[in-house]
Amino acid sequence: MSAVSEIIRCSNFAAIKHKDQRRKDKEGTPYINHPIGVANILTQEAGITDVAVIQVQCNISNKAALLHDTVEDTNTTFEEILDNFGEEVTGLVREVTDDKNLPKLERKQQQIDHAPHTSYKAKLVKLADKLYNLRDLNRCTPCGWQESRVKEYFQWAKKVVDGLKGTNQAMENSLDELFKERDIM
Ligand code: NDP
Ligand code: ZN
Repeated sequence: MSAVSEIIRCSNFAAIKHKDQRRKDKEGTPYINHPIGVANILTQEAGITDVAVIQVQCNISNKAALLHDTVEDTNTTFEEILDNFGEEVTGLVREVTDDKNLPKLERKQQQIDHAPHTSYKAKLVKLADKLYNLRDLNRCTPCGWQESRVKEYFQWAKKVVDGLKGTNQAMENSLDELFKERDIM
């Protein structure tokens, strides 16, 4: 199967899985905008130009980006991801999926603690995910959030991103700009 056909199959899978979900913004943006947007950041902004790297590495990272919230936020299982997309993609999705059995605060701390120990491709997906979510918060405050919660989220994201340093300069620079705008050092 061609790389394009694989990516379309992956997008279709994610779209079906997220079909009843909305983002937390006031417009209720369809959730699928997020995983597609994360994959888009990886392809358009990560600045990976080596053709061989794009074909092998970006293809896997893009599939993981498209699928990164399916297990965390829908009824999708890792077995389903494995049957449909193979071991490497499943491993990456596993690396970027929070353990929903943990209380929220512990989950947040775990992201900070685990970030430095994840694989290079998982770090790429994490950086793109954070970049997308922080831009989304700048674009529109989620329903029911006060400015203090937005600020808390940026402060937490900075701690996660600190543990991903040295992975991708372009995305890290964009993230640094967002933190600087809010005086988060
Ligand atoms: P959530 O984890 O509940 O929400 C943030 C996540 O929502 C993002 O990581 C993103 O995840 C997803 N998301 C969906 N839509 C949007 C959007 N439009 N913009 C950005 N992200 C979006 O919130 P918190 O991270 O704040 O976690 C809860 C924590 O907040 C708790 O630890 C609690 O203690 C604290 N809290 C603080 C309050 C306060 O007022 N300060 C009030 C209540 C809780 P994804 O990539 O998976 O889509
Ligand atoms: Zn996400």
